[in-house]
Amino acid sequence: MADHASPSQELDALIVGAGFAGMYQLLCLRDRLGLRVKTLEAGSGVGGTWYWNRYPGARCDTESHAYWYTFDPSLMRDWEWTERYPGQPEIMRYLNFVADRFDLKRDIQFDTRVTAAHYDEAANRWHVTTEHGETYTVKYLITAVGCLSTANVPNIPGLDGFKGDWYHTGQWPHGGVDFTGKRVGMIGTGSTGIQAAPVIAETAEHLTVFQRTANYSVPARNKPLTPEFKQYVKDNAEEIRQATHETLNGHQFKIDTKLATETSPEERRKIYEAAWERGGLQFRAVFQDMMASVEANSTAAEFIKGKIREIVKDPKTAAILSDIDHPYAAKRPPIDSDYFETFNRDNVTLVDVKAAPIQEITPTGIRTAEGSYDLDIIVFATGFDAMTGPMLRMDIRGRDDVALKDVWEGGPLNYLGLQVAGFPNLFTITGPGSPSVLCNMPVAIEQHAEWIADAIAHMRANGLERIEAKPEAMEKWVAEVNAVAGKTLLPMAKHSWYLGANIPGKPQVFMPYAGGMVRYREICEDVKARGYEGFVLA
Ligand code: NAP
Repeated sequence: MADHASPSQELDALIVGAGFAGMYQLLCLRDRLGLRVKTLEAGSGVGGTWYWNRYPGARCDTESHAYWYTFDPSLMRDWEWTERYPGQPEIMRYLNFVADRFDLKRDIQFDTRVTAAHYDEAANRWHVTTEHGETYTVKYLITAVGCLSTANVPNIPGLDGFKGDWYHTGQWPHGGVDFTGKRVGMIGTGSTGIQAAPVIAETAEHLTVFQRTANYSVPARNKPLTPEFKQYVKDNAEEIRQATHETLNGHQFKIDTKLATETSPEERRKIYEAAWERGGLQFRAVFQDMMASVEANSTAAEFIKGKIREIVKDPKTAAILSDIDHPYAAKRPPIDSDYFETFNRDNVTLVDVKAAPIQEITPTGIRTAEGSYDLDIIVFATGFDAMTGPMLRMDIRGRDDVALKDVWEGGPLNYLGLQVAGFPNLFTITGPGSPSVLCNMPVAIEQHAEWIADAIAHMRANGLERIEAKPEAMEKWVAEVNAVAGKTLLPMAKHSWYLGANIPGKPQVFMPYAGGMVRYREICEDVKARGYEGFVLA
């Protein structure tokens, strides 16, 4: 047990994290339930993932009119997005606008990283410790720590001796990085690298992209929103909200009922061309069977590979970029602004580090099995210890001092993604076992924060002190999460962070719930209607 030295504060609830999730949870618990509640946030401002990920080109892949809070119609009327896909600075302005409007910051303590949370069974309280040694004693603990907030800097020999500068995209300096006249190496071609490369290439003397696994990408077709579209959003905000509650992934667009396998090649081509021109994540929504049938998926995959070969002029570079080893969208599909076009620039080189792996970082650059590359700056667009990482970097201990890291040794176990047996009154927002990263995040977050607030309200109304997932409910749910993933093509991407495969030694388990947000919401509502079936309330 940590030494819970004073000064210690007692509260009804403590929230960890002040991104989309922590901010809304604070509002629910403080303003609707009247709890004594505080949020602790490691950053110096609100924003969570968006606070840290300020790398060049950082932009949301969900269209702006579906990427916001929808709990208050007047909030939707009073905010106006300017672009089809909001950039990181605009999202930060939005989140600060919301925080100020609801006076949230007075109950958020910034620059405060939570290091430990230990459950005291006799008192039925959580003792929470911060890196500065402050302690909090609370009945309810809610983690709103995000899914992609633990940066993964791969353990490549020699990084310590590198004489230039290096940065991870998820811990980007707030003052920005000047690439002018610099030779930049970027490792990683996931959604982040694909967004960053075109912007870095604009100012760097030279950009070398180190690609291990080739990736699909579809144009975002970002653009400023017209006054007419902004008015449309204001006039139809409630309908748009409703649409995001009725679609599989919480987006505003529906998945078409047409089957790729029953559509002629000419017709399919027309459909894919139109989707390519329209741009965005809805490319994957043009056929019902795209994520369920290898045959259907390969039609989309081949179309995109053909586009890459058309766009990229150097045939060797085009071949490396289009040599993709997994079904389309089995990894989180990126969307881009001129990513493949970037490789036609004279100052950009692609290096295939699957064929010739990176061997070391030298004082002057990167050495692969085939050659050395002199660099002034290395950018790690190498992703995150996703979903479980943000939880496990805190020392969380439940009943009998059992550590969460031991319970999750073989992969995350929980019930509905909301609670772990043995960890009473601890709730997790959009962690593993819930749709989270497979869904438009604000939609998943609002559902979780409201469900948690309802559960706490129910307990208070009924004089209950403790809510805890039953072990058998947890086991059944984990089996369900695995079963629904198995019905999709998602587990076929072997290097995916959905599976934990990007972190050496991490157990490989498909972590998010792939049964869709609509189904998940129904299950959670049903559990609630049955008196919180699967939970012990005491
Ligand atoms: P990621 O998808 O995990 O991609 C990491 C990249 O780094 C991969 O290309 C990976 O290659 C490579 N890599 C990792 N370690 C390496 C090593 N040792 N040597 C060579 N290459 C290495 O991470 P991300 O691009 O940061 O994206 C993570 C998630 O964040 C996304 O999937 C998305 O959900 C979210 N995101 C969203 C947005 C948005 O909405 N706009 C933007 C960015 C990110 P392998 O594939 O071979 O492992």
